[in-house]
Amino acid sequence: MEILERPTLGAHRTHDVANQVPPLANYDVYSSDAALVAAVAANGARWADPALRAIGRRSGSEEAIAWGFEANQNPPKLKAFDRTGVRVDEVEFHPSYHRLLEAAAGYGFHAAAWRDPKPGAHVSRAAGFYLWTQAEAGHGCPISMTHAVVPALRVQPELARAWEPLIFSGSYDGRSRPAPRKGSAIFGMAMTEKQGGSDVRANTTRAVPAGAGGPGAEYVLTGHKWFCSAPMSDAFLVLAQAPGGLSCFLVPRFLPDESKNAFALQRLKDKLGNRSNASSEIEFDGTAGWLVGQEGRGVATIVEMVNFTRLDCIIGSAAGMRQALAQAIHHATHRTVFGKLLIAQPLMRNVLADLALESEAATVLFARLARACDRAAAGDAHEARLKRIGTAFGKYWVCKRAPGHVAEALECLGGNGYVEESMLPRLFREAPLNSIWEGSGNVNALDVLRAMTKEPGVLESYFVEVDAVRGSDARLDAAATALRAELADREDAEARARRIVEQMALVFQAALLVGGAPAIVADAFVGSRLAGEGGRAYGTLPRGADAAGIVARANPHTN
Ligand SMILES: Cc1cc2nc3c(=O)[nH]c(=O)nc-3n(C[C@H](O)[C@H](O)[C@H](O)COP(=O)(O)OP(=O)(O)OC[C@H]3O[C@@H](n4cnc5c(N)ncnc54)[C@H](O)[C@@H]3O)c2cc1C
Repeated sequence: MEILERPTLGAHRTHDVANQVPPLANYDVYSSDAALVAAVAANGARWADPALRAIGRRSGSEEAIAWGFEANQNPPKLKAFDRTGVRVDEVEFHPSYHRLLEAAAGYGFHAAAWRDPKPGAHVSRAAGFYLWTQAEAGHGCPISMTHAVVPALRVQPELARAWEPLIFSGSYDGRSRPAPRKGSAIFGMAMTEKQGGSDVRANTTRAVPAGAGGPGAEYVLTGHKWFCSAPMSDAFLVLAQAPGGLSCFLVPRFLPDESKNAFALQRLKDKLGNRSNASSEIEFDGTAGWLVGQEGRGVATIVEMVNFTRLDCIIGSAAGMRQALAQAIHHATHRTVFGKLLIAQPLMRNVLADLALESEAATVLFARLARACDRAAAGDAHEARLKRIGTAFGKYWVCKRAPGHVAEALECLGGNGYVEESMLPRLFREAPLNSIWEGSGNVNALDVLRAMTKEPGVLESYFVEVDAVRGSDARLDAAATALRAELADREDAEARARRIVEQMALVFQAALLVGGAPAIVADAFVGSRLAGEGGRAYGTLPRGADAAGIVARANPHTN
C-alpha cells in the first residue's frame, strides 16, 4: 500500500479566527441598563443603587454566567431510593444550582421585601431579582415561590410565626434536613393535578382532619399533584378538598418530630426549558398538612401567593428579554457584515431599537407594579387596585411578548444565536414558560375581566394613571379613548378578552413611557404600538424613529 506523505501539522495556518464576537461578560448588568436605573429611581428605590450595582456586577461576572450554564447542562436527577432500597424522595442538583440559590437567598430576593418593608422594598427586590435571574432563570422558581408565600402564610398567624424566621434567615441550605435544624426554609406550591390545572375546582386530593380540624389544625392528605416544582423545598402550600371544600394546606417535608412526611416523588418532568429547576409529579398518602385559613377558602388563600408569583412572571419575562437584547446589541457592536458593523446597518438598528422598546416597556411596567406592592402594603387603596389589575394584564402581555422577542434577538446573532454557547437557546426555551405558569394566557386575560366585574374601582384606578399624562401625546389620548369604548361594550367580552387586555397593557405601558422615558423612546413606542405606524414583526419602526438613539440607550456598553 502506498503511504501518502502527510503535511506537517500546523504548516498550513487556515484556522485564523476573525470577526467573531467575544462573550458578554464581566459587566455591570445594572448600571448598563439605563431603563432599569431610571425605573428604580422613579419608583422610590434610588437608595438601593449601590446594592443593585453590586448584584449587577456579580450577575454579569464570568463566574455567575458559568454557574448558569453548568446548572442547565447538568439537570437535576431524581433519587427516589437509597442504595438499600429505602425511599428517600430526593433530587440531586449540580453544585452550581446551589451556588445560584445561595447567592439569591443571600441577596434576600425570597424575603427582603417582607423582612424590611420600607418604601421601595418591593421595587429594589424586583430589580435585584430581574438582574440576578439574567445569569440563570431556573433557580428563580423556588426563590419566587418563597417570596410569594409570606402573605398567604400570614393568613394563619401561628404558622407564619413558625416559618417566617426560617424564610427570613437570608441563607439557603439544600440538604434534606428538617428546616429548623438548617435554620432556613424555601417554599414551593402544589395546585395542579392531572385532570385540571387552571380549573383547580377539579382537584381530587382529599384532606381529612386529624383531630377537631379548623384553621391551623392538622389534616391528613391523600392524592397527587401533576406539577410540583422545586420539590426539594422545605414546605409547600397545597390545595386539597377538605370537608368544607377546596382548602389550602402547609405541607412540610419533615414533621415536627423530625421524621419524613409522606411526599413521594414519582417522576421528574422532561421539560422544554427551565432545565436547572426540577419539576416533579408527587403523591400524598397519609401526608400531614396544616390548614391555612378557613376550610373552603383555599383559592382565596393561595391567591395571596399567586398574585406575587404572577408579578415575578412579569419580572422573569422582562429579565429574559433584557438579557436577550443585551446579547443582541453586544453582538451587533462587534460583528462586521458587508463592510460595516451590524449596529451601523440601518435595518439591524431598526430591529434592535424595536426590541429595546419592548424591553423598556416591560421594565417600566414591572417597576411600577412593584411600587404598587410597596404602597398597597402601606395601606394605599388606589395602589392596591392598580396592583390587582396591573398584575393580571401585565402578566398576560409581557409574558406573551417574550418568546417572539427572544427569538428575534436570537436571530440577530445569526447562526451563532442558534448555538447553545451563546446563551440564546436557553433564553428562548425559557421564554414561553412564564405565560403558562400561574394562570396561562387566557386565564390571565379572563382574570382581568373578573377583576373589573368583581372589584369596583380597579378600572378607575387604571385610568387615573393613564390620564395623568393626558394631553402629552394625541395618539395616546386617542388610544385611551378607544379603549374606554372597548371596555364599555361588554358583549362577547370573554371572546374579546385578549384584544381588550392587550390594549390595556399597551396604553398603560405607553403612559408610563410618555410620563418618564426619553421622548425618542416614548414617541417610537406610541407610534409603533398604538398608532398603527409599526408592522407585525420586530424591525418595523416607522420612518423618523430615532433607532440609533434608542439602541444607544439600551446598549450595555454605552451606559
Ligand atoms: C415547568 C412547569 C412547572 C410547573 N410547576 C408547577 C408547580 O410548582 N405547582 C403547580 O401547582 N403547578 C405547576 N405547573 C403547572 C401550571 O401552573 C399549569 O400547567 C397551568 O396552570 C395550566 O394548567 P393545565 O396544564 O392544567 O392546563 P389547562 O388548565 O388544561 O389549560 C390548557 C389551556 O386552556 C386555556 N384555558 C383554561 N381555561 C380556559 C377558559 N376558561 N377559556 C379559555 N381558555 C382556557 C389555558 O390558558 C391553557 O392555554 C407547572 C407547569 C410547568 C410547565
